[in-house]
Amino acid sequence: MGNAQQTAIQVNNYIGGRWVASESGEIIQRENPANTSEIVAVVTNATKEETIQAVESAHEAFQTWSKVPAVKRAEKIYNVIDVLERRRQEVAELLTREMGKPIKEAHGEITKAINEARYSAGEALRLTGETLPSERAGIHVRTIRVPKGVIAAISPWNFPLVTPLRKIVPALAAGNTVVFKPATVTAAMGAKIIELFEEAGLPAGVLNLIVGSGRSVGNTLVSHPLVKGVTFTGSTAVGSGIYKLAAERLIEVQLEMGGKNAGIIYDYPDVNGAVDQILAAAFAASGQRCTSISRIVVQRSRVEEVTRALTEKLAQYVIGDGMSDKVNMGPLVSQDQLDTVEQYVRIGLEEGAVLAAGGKRPSGVNGGYYYEPTVFTNAAPDMRIAREEIFGPVLVVIPVDSFDEAVQVANNSEYGLAVSCFTHHMPYAEQAVEEIETGMIHINNGTISESHVPFGGLKHSAVGPYSIGSTGKDFLTALKVVYSSS
Ligand code: NAP
Repeated sequence: MGNAQQTAIQVNNYIGGRWVASESGEIIQRENPANTSEIVAVVTNATKEETIQAVESAHEAFQTWSKVPAVKRAEKIYNVIDVLERRRQEVAELLTREMGKPIKEAHGEITKAINEARYSAGEALRLTGETLPSERAGIHVRTIRVPKGVIAAISPWNFPLVTPLRKIVPALAAGNTVVFKPATVTAAMGAKIIELFEEAGLPAGVLNLIVGSGRSVGNTLVSHPLVKGVTFTGSTAVGSGIYKLAAERLIEVQLEMGGKNAGIIYDYPDVNGAVDQILAAAFAASGQRCTSISRIVVQRSRVEEVTRALTEKLAQYVIGDGMSDKVNMGPLVSQDQLDTVEQYVRIGLEEGAVLAAGGKRPSGVNGGYYYEPTVFTNAAPDMRIAREEIFGPVLVVIPVDSFDEAVQVANNSEYGLAVSCFTHHMPYAEQAVEEIETGMIHINNGTISESHVPFGGLKHSAVGPYSIGSTGKDFLTALKVVYSSS
């Protein structure tokens, strides 16, 4: 089973309430991104047969779990929250060791996970239908919500605790059962999540874990006829493949994918305050957040001031192993992610953007996938660094000459996840709300999100009902219309 020793954690599948070592023999080692000589986890790729067993086990458990009263299902989730509260420090340390984000951010993620889980457990009691008037005498018409069955939950590595829980908790609360596939680089946190549910006394089969490369187990999971819905967070490329497979079987999806989020500063006197909020939104988790602000769209006359504020503040950043409280920014998650960032920085320079900060690996911080927080200034809106998701600590400053142009630039991306607009001119704020193609818009705020508020995007950032809040039930339950007469 998954265990919590400081030595490498052996991560196995969890099927039908038992930890099962995979028979594939295909081992993937996961290193600590802050210190790559330390192996954090050893993951064995699940086989196709094991993936099928996990789905079948979830299907069998669905027959009883779906009939457990909603109040009792919610109680189990509250037990999980208690366990997580109790084991918070251990979970935070694993989160940092495996994913790399600073320990303060790891605790922030745990708090968010707890708050969301509390809200979502309560949603079990709000799965209400409607009573409708009938055209006929003696007929009663109402709607009820019923759980769908087995839900496949596939998650990324950047929020390895809150994102899986955002999928698992609402699904279980609504009476579904789950097969969970975490990102391979954070598979140990996937196993830790299972331990929390196990300790909280969740019945066998209700939540199952399949570990291993998405390319090898993903198709089997998504294509299995007993899987009735797929909730996925990750890249748009993988999400689009999942969407196609799900469409062939006519099942619903909830896809949360990439972003290229703009922070607009226009007619906003407090540039310093806006920059503080943008920095927090840009460089938390080393810029590896779907809602990271990755471009600042600013009126030309303020570019110099904005760039100076950015570079002065970033010069104070401490980069290093996130286990230290002093660190503002940890490493990137992997060599792949570091390669991508280095490649985009080269592209930005070739495209003619001007490097104002960073652009290299830090000197004196070794042994991990470290990269300096980087700012390009004077970028043109059509440059690749201004349109494509980099998913790293790279911020691009784009000057504009009018607010209309700011809106156009913000919309000049395939994505539509989150946008921040700092302005004291109310008509601009209203124009931003109306015209910017984005799922979430923040006026005079960074890209915050709250535990009871729907979360999602437009364009290539999302498909299906938003998660969190009251919208997720549209994905997790089917509506039944009942006509009855006495
Ligand atoms: P990813 O490569 O798409 O992987 C996401 C998950 O999908 C992982 O568990 C991965 O498994 C799995 N997977 C890979 N190929 C698959 C396949 N063919 N079938 C089924 N599953 C498959 O994304 P990532 O690199 O982990 O995460 C970064 C991306 O996630 C960014 O684009 C970011 O914007 C997006 N993201 C979006 C949100 C949001 O809410 N909108 C939140 C966070 C992140 P392996 O790990 O084994 O490859």
